[in-house]
Amino acid sequence: MKIVEKKCPNCGASLDFKVGERDIVCSHCRRKFAVKYDGVDFAKLSADEVNSLKDVNIDLKPFRNFFITAAIIFVIVSALSITLFVGIFVFIASKVKSAADEQFQQTVQDNQEWIDQQSKYRTLNNF
Ligand SMILES: [Zn+2]
Repeated sequence: MKIVEKKCPNCGASLDFKVGERDIVCSHCRRKFAVKYDGVDFAKLSADEVNSLKDVNIDLKPFRNFFITAAIIFVIVSALSITLFVGIFVFIASKVKSAADEQFQQTVQDNQEWIDQQSKYRTLNNF
């Protein structure tokens, strides 16, 4: 079997593959790549079957940088937390406001009743 030689997509140094390797680190730039063999699952093949294979194409996918992944997760979590926090704040604020409005309406109503009673009393007593 011949594995088609690949060069590091990052720095261009040639990469040495061992059959069945799932990932490879470039010895020159230390970049890590996931190895995808074109249609071949080496885990399911015997040594003879591997040896009988002809050319195998290799596809390299760079592993996403850990810090970029961590930064993306951090941004998403922060955005969700802020949204949740603002949502809870708005909810509590609206509850407080409606309770205050209700209390104000009650006070207005009480005052109106008191004024009405006062005017009835004045009318009855002529003053
Ligand atoms: Zn490299």
